[in-house]
Amino acid sequence: MLYHSFLIKYSEIGTKGKNRYVFEDALVHDIRRKLKRAEGSFRVTRERGRIYVSSKSEDYDPDSLIEALRHVFGIIGICPMVQFENDGNIESLKREVLSYWGELYRGKKKSFKVYTRRADKSFPLSSPEIDAELGHEILDAFPESSVDVHNPEVRLHVEIRQFINLYSEIIPGPGGMPLGTNGKAMLLLSGGIDSPAAGYMIAKRGALIEACYFHAPPYTSERAKQKVTDLAEKLSRYAGPVALHIVNFTEIQLAIYEKCPHDELTILMRRYMMRIAERIAEKRDCIGLITGESIGQVASQTMQSLVCTNEVCRLPVYRPLIAFDKQEIVDIAERIGTYETSIEPYEDCCTIFVARHPVTKPVPEKIRSSEERLLPEIEAMTDKAVEEAELILCR
Ligand code: ATP
Ligand code: MG
Repeated sequence: MLYHSFLIKYSEIGTKGKNRYVFEDALVHDIRRKLKRAEGSFRVTRERGRIYVSSKSEDYDPDSLIEALRHVFGIIGICPMVQFENDGNIESLKREVLSYWGELYRGKKKSFKVYTRRADKSFPLSSPEIDAELGHEILDAFPESSVDVHNPEVRLHVEIRQFINLYSEIIPGPGGMPLGTNGKAMLLLSGGIDSPAAGYMIAKRGALIEACYFHAPPYTSERAKQKVTDLAEKLSRYAGPVALHIVNFTEIQLAIYEKCPHDELTILMRRYMMRIAERIAEKRDCIGLITGESIGQVASQTMQSLVCTNEVCRLPVYRPLIAFDKQEIVDIAERIGTYETSIEPYEDCCTIFVARHPVTKPVPEKIRSSEERLLPEIEAMTDKAVEEAELILCR
């Protein structure tokens, strides 16, 4: 069956009380934007607590429509539906339901249950009465079907409103909150598996994101930078346009390498990354930082190391993967489509300047005193890194 209308289910927004319209407006706005990627021409409409997407013509590609909607945060379900006039008459409702059932489930021996919601109380029967009438009607016309009130294979939803909506399929959406309903945060985006997943998770809560990538030419290649740009583009399919700041980190990395103990290299580099990211964040009105760190994943992510990287920032640092195992992070990356790019082999600046035996329990006082060896030149170096960062808009 070719559907022309889709009911959009959203969660949490329903709990927002008076602010509800802000969230619904943002959701509709993002749906409209994402639909530009779908083939066809669509109408997005609202009716008290419901959002509908319908195709303006027969000529559209439902798969590309669903794919576009699956990238909209805030949507928990996409329901292909049949919508028709509510004439207040159970007989016409029965006719529509039989033709719907026949087209989708004829001969398929499905167990089912009818779920009626009567928002329009002028309809002459109550919801349980409608459930019962429609149930009997289906059983009579399609004796191969059966009723199962506990665990039905098909949940047939009948919504009685200004129009009547029939649907039985719910395609999952990403969930979360609509884009732009929260603040903006700066993601430290490396070419790895974790940081894109971390950015996705914070954007999913309605935050806008920008990203910072630290590269170290000639130790890291143009191709590594392109990989990060590709990742930012992939994120933007969900998160909207992502401003990617490319920071040249070579000079700082070399200074650390020359002057500081090698077992502290990674921690020291991470501290400078955090500082620079925070300065760019403030310039760009971002009110938080995001990293892909996870407790114990590597030496620089033990709890002791996190104390050291955390203490250089004033902004909150969001680490949505902090308690995730690597495989759980890989699962997210695969689901959101960043994994394939993340495992491309191009080197990251951190993998070149790594110590064979990095500290796993760095002591903040000692780290601070190692940093003093970089004074005073480091100040000018960080200023320069911030000022000369290159901006690429990824969409
Ligand atoms: P990822 O975490 O993305 O897989 P990784 O595991 O190599 O990369 P680490 O080197 O352990 O990451 O760094 C932890 C976090 O620091 C990353 O998740 C990312 O947020 C940030 N980070 C590391 N390297 C860079 C970089 N070159 N540019 C920007 N951010 C970086
Ligand atoms: Mg990591």
